[in-house]
Amino acid sequence: MIEKIELFKDKTECCACGACENICSQNAIEMREDEVGFLYPYINKDKCISCGACMRVCGYKKANEDNDKSDKYVIAFSSKDDIVISRSASGGAFAEIAKEVLNESGVVYGAVSDDRSNGWTVHHSRIDKVDDLKMMQGSKYVQSDMGNIYKQVRKDLDDGQKVLFSGTPCQVDGLNNYLMKKYDNLLTVDIICHGVPNQRMYKDFLSYRENHIDGTIERFVFRDKSKGQGMISRMDIKTNNSKSRSIIKKGELYSYFYLFLKQHIYRINCYSCPYAKQTRYSDITIGDFWGFSSLYPNMAASVELTDSKGVSCVIVNSEKGMRAVDNIKQHCNCMESTFEMASKYNGQLKYPSRLTGVRQNIIDVYADKGYAGIEHFYHTHFWKDRIKYFISSLIPMKVKKKAKSLLG
Ligand SMILES: Cc1cc2nc3c(=O)[nH]c(=O)nc-3n(C[C@H](O)[C@H](O)[C@H](O)COP(=O)(O)OP(=O)(O)OC[C@H]3O[C@@H](n4cnc5c(N)ncnc54)[C@H](O)[C@@H]3O)c2cc1C
Repeated sequence: MIEKIELFKDKTECCACGACENICSQNAIEMREDEVGFLYPYINKDKCISCGACMRVCGYKKANEDNDKSDKYVIAFSSKDDIVISRSASGGAFAEIAKEVLNESGVVYGAVSDDRSNGWTVHHSRIDKVDDLKMMQGSKYVQSDMGNIYKQVRKDLDDGQKVLFSGTPCQVDGLNNYLMKKYDNLLTVDIICHGVPNQRMYKDFLSYRENHIDGTIERFVFRDKSKGQGMISRMDIKTNNSKSRSIIKKGELYSYFYLFLKQHIYRINCYSCPYAKQTRYSDITIGDFWGFSSLYPNMAASVELTDSKGVSCVIVNSEKGMRAVDNIKQHCNCMESTFEMASKYNGQLKYPSRLTGVRQNIIDVYADKGYAGIEHFYHTHFWKDRIKYFISSLIPMKVKKKAKSLLG
């Protein structure tokens, strides 16, 4: 028996991975939203038996202690499959790893995004068919709801299923801590992550936008590739006269996406994230290989890797990870690189996002005035950026590339 169950003293000490909720044998812990929508574990004192299991699986504070800077095998990666790459945020590394697992009758866990009828909720889910993989592809820039997913993973593992679990670094570490032992049949993939906003704000953003269009927003895709690669979003709309249309535009022209990219609206703990470093807790780490073409100006064409479709960086953290990556190399264009190169334009591999001076103002405005307050803040404080991104969105990609190459 533990005298006092205290999961965190300060909000900077909790990432809401959900390991504590999943481990509780009494179902005494539930995730509850704070005043602006960020989730924190709440302990029901009537149900709690003070066994302390929840405190034992909390790995967030312990992660600060690890600092392994050993060399890693790193590749730049781009799937050869056009459909895979078009649905993926970057080079399709996740889908290729997942396909291998599913083809061996395994199961895959990752984040999926519901459509409007299910409240646009982003949550972790389980699939066992390659056909369902598309639901998990693509980045959803919001904290995924974990529910009781770790319990399901453990059941699959105990049943002898091959399991791929993917998520943010804190979610992968949450699973490891929850499981408390190593499983040969588990492969973990973490995404490089610079922070997560919460679902309430994301849904309020979509509702707010919906009030400004002649129809309903069926789906929001953060990174659509039909008009190029990068932070280009797509909003699928059903109009009031039942027609379908999509708005494809630069993500920064939406308040939510802009504030996400500029690091203004994350959970407070993301700004001191203990996972934003070279030490990883997964078998494989995947992310965007930002700046690939400028880092390797001569190599890019020769190995058919190109930023225009998206290039993943794949970092191998274990022997199991190495075997999985070896298996997918035949389906991709890839090139060996280094941790130093992969992290050059991807600061998250070295340090957490910087807490911005306006983050608290934005959160306060949201608490006070709701999403309309955020929208107003975005238009009044960041209007210069808005103009810049608007003008940039009018210039065709080809022209931008030409100008970039002329300017060196
Ligand atoms: C909140 C967030 C922040 C990110 N920040 C960075 C960054 O700073 N630098 C960088 O290089 N890359 C970042 N990424 C990762 C990047 O956007 C791509 O997801 C990554 O490059 C993998 O691309 P892919 O083409 O291999 O696979 P994709 O098909 O694009 O990605 C699918 C994978 O992403 C996972 N995923 C998607 N959304 C979520 C979510 N909300 N929560 C947990 N897992 C999710 C799925 O489970 C699946 O494993 C971030 C992703 C998210 C969700």
